[in-house]
Amino acid sequence: MSKIGKDGQKKLVESTVAILGLGGIGSVASFYLAGAGVNLKLIDRDLVSLSDLHRQILYTEEDLGKPKAYAAKERLSKLNSKIEIEALSDEFNPANAEEFITGSDLVLDATDNFETRFLLNDVCVKHNKPFTYAAAIQDRGLFMFIQPQETPCLRCLMEEPPKPGTIGTCATVGVIGPAPGFVGVLSASEAIKYLTGYGENLKNKLLVFELGNFSLDLVKVSRNMNCKTCVKRKFEYLEGKTWTKASPLCGVDTYQVRLEGKGSIDLAHLSLNLSKNPYVKVKTRSNQYLLLNYNQYNVTVLTNGRVLVRGAKSVSEARKIANLILSM
Ligand SMILES: [Zn+2]
Repeated sequence: MSKIGKDGQKKLVESTVAILGLGGIGSVASFYLAGAGVNLKLIDRDLVSLSDLHRQILYTEEDLGKPKAYAAKERLSKLNSKIEIEALSDEFNPANAEEFITGSDLVLDATDNFETRFLLNDVCVKHNKPFTYAAAIQDRGLFMFIQPQETPCLRCLMEEPPKPGTIGTCATVGVIGPAPGFVGVLSASEAIKYLTGYGENLKNKLLVFELGNFSLDLVKVSRNMNCKTCVKRKFEYLEGKTWTKASPLCGVDTYQVRLEGKGSIDLAHLSLNLSKNPYVKVKTRSNQYLLLNYNQYNVTVLTNGRVLVRGAKSVSEARKIANLILSM
């Protein structure tokens, strides 16, 4: 396209976009950006579930149970083997947020919860990194491009996150695939525009759409001159003051457990021990993760010390199972 040209394409292949979340929005955005030749940094804490497949187009039935970050990297590398992809199967939290955005030109919000978004807002405003606010639920969605110090930030738009339970999630109210898909397309398009310098990004306006009655509006948003984050520069979420730990993952009965003091896990050794136990069935083993069945539980063990337990009813039950597996 002449508006991008060879110079623009050169800029794309020299750029890196960090994407926070690899669900319905992140799947689509990462696909177009990988196709465009952009290097990627990806993070997602979740595993692929059957209920994800209608919208999370990076994954197939063969990927069920795999950590999304690794399944995504595998798929995107097949699309474009020339780009660099760094994939982290971890939660985006105050301890890794600054390192995660380092080296990226732009960060895309493709997450599913406000706590993570407010942390993203803190870290990007603090480091003056452009980023997006993006969300979709049912047949509706939102999108905004944020350039810190120039445009309103997320906290100018809403001072505090909505109270837990007051807004629906994909698990409670559902979502049709094209709604996050549309937001993912917008995210990739805004990223390509920003990186190549053509066109104008969606600044100072919030795009709000609803597919059912096909309404699409641009709402003007202004900076709040009392904003805690971009004016007063208080980074409460990054400082970890308001951070809650160990929440169940969106949409599934999966709990994540991080066992303190275990450090990195030797999967080859663990897998050998587990194979001697008649109640354990190891399904998949890669360099980064191990998938296994133990009684009614599906367990994923990651080298970085995270254990995801599906089928548990509480964090304490998940913790018990994780401890049991790692001590086998
Ligand atoms: Zn602000």
